[in-house]
Amino acid sequence: MIEVSEATKIINDSVLNLNKVKVPLDKVLGRVLRQDVFADVDFPPFDRVMMDGIAIKIEDFIAGTKTFAIAGVQAAGSLQMILETPGTCLEVMTGAVAPKGADVVIRYEDVLIDAKKQLATIQLEEVIKGKNIHKKGTDKKAGDLLISTSTLIGSPEIAVAASVGLTTLLVTKNPSVAIVSTGNELVDIRETPEPHQIRRSNVYAIEAELKQLGIKSDIYHFNDDESKLTAELETLLNNHDIMILSGGVSMGKFDFVPGVLDKLGVKKMFHRINQKPGKPFWFGVKDGEKVVFAFPGNPVSTFLCYHKYFVPWIKKTLGLQQSDQRKAILAEDISIKTRLTYFLQVSTYVNEEGQIMAAPVVGRGSGDHANLLSSDAFLELPGDQIEFKKGEVFNLISFRR
Ligand code: AMP
Ligand code: MG
Repeated sequence: MIEVSEATKIINDSVLNLNKVKVPLDKVLGRVLRQDVFADVDFPPFDRVMMDGIAIKIEDFIAGTKTFAIAGVQAAGSLQMILETPGTCLEVMTGAVAPKGADVVIRYEDVLIDAKKQLATIQLEEVIKGKNIHKKGTDKKAGDLLISTSTLIGSPEIAVAASVGLTTLLVTKNPSVAIVSTGNELVDIRETPEPHQIRRSNVYAIEAELKQLGIKSDIYHFNDDESKLTAELETLLNNHDIMILSGGVSMGKFDFVPGVLDKLGVKKMFHRINQKPGKPFWFGVKDGEKVVFAFPGNPVSTFLCYHKYFVPWIKKTLGLQQSDQRKAILAEDISIKTRLTYFLQVSTYVNEEGQIMAAPVVGRGSGDHANLLSSDAFLELPGDQIEFKKGEVFNLISFRR
């Protein structure tokens, strides 16, 4: 049996090396970028008019001119016009190129337009040179790094990639994942369980979680039959990069999973962690290119192990930079008598000082997965303490967004 910190280290040292794939821009949301994205031109690419109004030469205004003859209209998307004759102006639209020779734009709100006489009178006492003109290259220069590799792609990244003309992006290739439940007592959700049976649920929770990471998975179920399990898991191992199992790793007479995985050449990295729930967790690697997470079947155990261990591992495997461990403040005193890391189910809220508080949500142990409905995280209470006081800060493992 090992401690939580060792287990975390072993898992995070066992990341898979996934390839990169080119994916069309409309399919990259939520994927991990594996290339740098550079500016192809200056941002903005020309002196851009920022407000609808008139463009003038500031020297005319300083010389006392307030009323200007309108010499034309510079629309967005048209070639740059030239403001030539002193004492004239050009009407300009947002997004247009600032006319050559103009050095300030006065917005329509500050101008009186006489449409009949084609005159524009500025209503301001003072104008500032350069106002309402977004100068070429002031945001970014051509060749500047805009988005760096290992970024999680959201809609701002998609907008920036589109603006530099990228129709595809290089992202991490999604791994192929098999989710497996084991146990004779488990029936399909469409079936009505006999009095000695229950419907299997863990696999659907994991499938849904993976979907949120943009990863598709295949679900399988096998009964506690050692030779059948060996044959089935062998096929799955051949066809998938990652296998997530639930059940069959404890001390029971029918807990065949560790023995079967061993027989199939999956190297055990550890079995059992000094924690609750999820103590019987088994973790192994095959030939450095397949990883097996075999979680205990109790729904809360599977759920905790998935969030505590699998999520940081898959993020690292996908190429994301590790984010800082989140913390929260315990909202009530609590005592945990056993000397192990205890993952306390909590409901979090933000207090008036803007701090994240974690209030215990007491359930009936790791089989009580309905209790997950009223919580949103686990608080990681270390094993070297028995009394935990209100106000103390601990690691927070959130499972809702
Ligand atoms: P095991 O880890 O196989 O000893 O299972 C521990 C407990 O979790 C048993 O009560 C199982 O019935 C239950 N269990 C195992 N797998 C699942 C599953 N996929 N969905 C719901 N409950 C499960
Ligand atoms: Mg079982």
